[in-house]
This record gives sequence, C-alpha cells and structure tokens, in this order.
Amino acid sequence: MPITDPELIKIVEKRVFEVSICRRCGAKNPLNAKKCRRCRGTDLRPKKKELAKFKAQ
Ligand SMILES: [Zn+2]
Repeated sequence: MPITDPELIKIVEKRVFEVSICRRCGAKNPLNAKKCRRCRGTDLRPKKKELAKFKAQ
C-alpha cells in the first residue's frame, strides 16, 4: 500500500523503524531501551530502515 502523506510517513518511521531488536530473543524494544523487555538481555541492536520499499510502490 503506498504511503504518500509526509506526516503519515513520519509517524510510520517512528512507530515501525525506530526500534531496537534483541540479539538474544529477537524481541522489539524501544530505541532507547537498555535491556530487552522479554529476556532482560542487554545485547540490543538498533533497527533503522529506510521507507524506500513503501515509497517505491
Ligand atoms: Zn531479548
């Protein structure tokens, strides 16, 4: 589904792409999280992707 509204794109970027992924269990966490909310592990990696695949459609 194409997203054309610039405001909506900002919201989607924040909601979907500004998350940290736990390397241990793969759970999504807030970007500023220090610990995984599922397994309490501290090995989190940021997930920040472009919206290119949405814009291209
Ligand atoms: Zn975890």
